Amino acid sequence: MADTIFAKIISGQIPCHKVYEDDRVLAFLDINPLTRGHTLVVPKEPAETLDKLSDESAAALGRVLPRICRAVIAATGVAEYNILENNGPGAHQAVFHVHFHIIPRPSPNEGLGLSWQQRSLPATEASELVKLITTALQKTP
Ligand code: AMP
Repeated sequence: MADTIFAKIISGQIPCHKVYEDDRVLAFLDINPLTRGHTLVVPKEPAETLDKLSDESAAALGRVLPRICRAVIAATGVAEYNILENNGPGAHQAVFHVHFHIIPRPSPNEGLGLSWQQRSLPATEASELVKLITTALQKTP
C-alpha cells in the first residue's frame, strides 16, 4: 500500500489540524481549503479508493460523517455544503488514501465547482444496467 501523506498524518509523522479522531477515523482541515471549514474525513485503513475499503471502516465513516457535517455547519454558520470523494486520478484524486471532503458552500460563487452535464437514460440501457449491476452485486463480496 502506498505511503501517502494521509498515512503519515494518521501515524503522527506529519501534523494536521485535527478536528475528530476515533479508532478508525481521523478528520482534519484541508490544507488548501476551497472554502472556510473545508474538512477531510479519512479512514485510518489505507485503502486507495472507496471500493477497496472494508465494511468496518465504511461503517465507521458513515457513523461519524453526518456528525462532523453538523459540527462544520455549526462552526461556519454555513448550512449548505458538498460531500466529495474522488476515486482515481481521472476523477481528480490526488492523494491515494480514501477521504471525504466536506466543502461548505457559503455562496453560489464559492466552494465546489460543478459541471453537471446530464444525459437521458433510454429504457433499454437502464434495464441492461440494472441487470449488470444487480448481478455484480450478487457476486461482489
Ligand atoms: P483529492 O483531490 O480528493 O485527492 O484531494 C486531496 C486533498 O488533500 C486536497 O484538497 C489537498 O488540499 C489536501 N491535502 C493534501 N495534503 C494535505 C495535508 N498535509 N493536510 C491537509 N490536507 C491536505
